[in-house]
Amino acid sequence: MSEIIWLTNVKLETGDRQVGNGEYVTETGCFHLKIEDGRIAEIKQAGQTSELLGKQVDMAGKLAVPAFKEMHNHLDKTYMTLDWKAVTPVSSLVERLQMESEELVELAVSTEQRATKMIETLLNKGATHIRTHVNIDPYIGLKNLEGVKAALESFKGKVTHEIVAFPQHGLLRDDVPKLMREAMRSGATMVGGLDPAGIDGSIERSLYEVMAIATESDSAIDIHLHDGGSVGYYTVDKWIEIVEDAGYKGRTALSHAFCLGDVSASQQQVIAQRLADQGVAIMSTVPINLNRTLPPIELLDRNGVNVHFGCDGFYDSWSPYGTGDVLEKVTRYCEMYGKKDERSLRYALKYVTQGITPLDNGGNQVWPQVNDKADFVFFEAASTAEVVARKPKNRWVMVAGQLVSSPVENYS
Ligand SMILES: [Zn+2]
Repeated sequence: MSEIIWLTNVKLETGDRQVGNGEYVTETGCFHLKIEDGRIAEIKQAGQTSELLGKQVDMAGKLAVPAFKEMHNHLDKTYMTLDWKAVTPVSSLVERLQMESEELVELAVSTEQRATKMIETLLNKGATHIRTHVNIDPYIGLKNLEGVKAALESFKGKVTHEIVAFPQHGLLRDDVPKLMREAMRSGATMVGGLDPAGIDGSIERSLYEVMAIATESDSAIDIHLHDGGSVGYYTVDKWIEIVEDAGYKGRTALSHAFCLGDVSASQQQVIAQRLADQGVAIMSTVPINLNRTLPPIELLDRNGVNVHFGCDGFYDSWSPYGTGDVLEKVTRYCEMYGKKDERSLRYALKYVTQGITPLDNGGNQVWPQVNDKADFVFFEAASTAEVVARKPKNRWVMVAGQLVSSPVENYS
């Protein structure tokens, strides 16, 4: 029989009510959660007199929030643990790729060490699931995949993951399709792609090749798409068609997809419905870039498209910035789009929790439920709206009812 743990004095959101001029405030209560086999077995209101049998862990009134999922990252690229290095200026994406290719061999030696530091950082901030892209390219072949796999292995039981074989330097060149197939046999769990027009120079051939590799290995797909304007829009349109023909509904994602923000509102509406119909998710890293428009996240969400956020690669040859806090992406999104009230702040948490929020749109409690996995981030906060707006630094991360990270060990 597995150990029974009672998490006592857990603050849960229970509803909301209108006050004053119609604004909402979140209501909370204090509960004891019984954890068995890593799942919630019982939820009991605090103050009830019955005895709690088993080990007790006092959460001292901290607010429980669903654990985060980091849905777009590059564990193999970071410079973390190495000496400080700023980014070398370049004038185009092609030059940036050239620059990266020159240091890949040198960096591949320390992939496991660098990735380990990055996973630790993401986990300490609350992410217990990571979707990472890993370079599969003509310069280092599968070397980064090996390093990233080893790093993720050491977090088994704490962090779940998906590894996307990512043709960063183009798919339709050299023996990359062969390397990609090898990667799928060697531990990669998803197939990636990159700018079918901008990098591969052939939209249809590139997309069909991605789908061919995926169907051969029965794997899901996540494609980087920076191609903008009507070229990008055409690519998305074509992709939806390919997904439908292949029977791949619900198994693909497009990352970045800036092009969706470049087209007219009526085109956005049409494509959003088609994306929703075929279950094509959109991954955004909510970047600050004054020259690019973000995809219309709110419109996509309203039309039923699954939108997820990720930190992207950070502190690497592409950018010296980034903290590894996926919650920060939600805060930024809310700030950029003027989300300031309790309900809209609370709602936005869904972009880093695979859609889960403690309260639904009507303010009814929907999480946590008995039988849910006991994966949480605890905060000293009044509500998830405060968590989203203020992104408190102190976090207690719990996986299957076990504390895997706490501020004491991280910041003292
Ligand atoms: Zn990326």
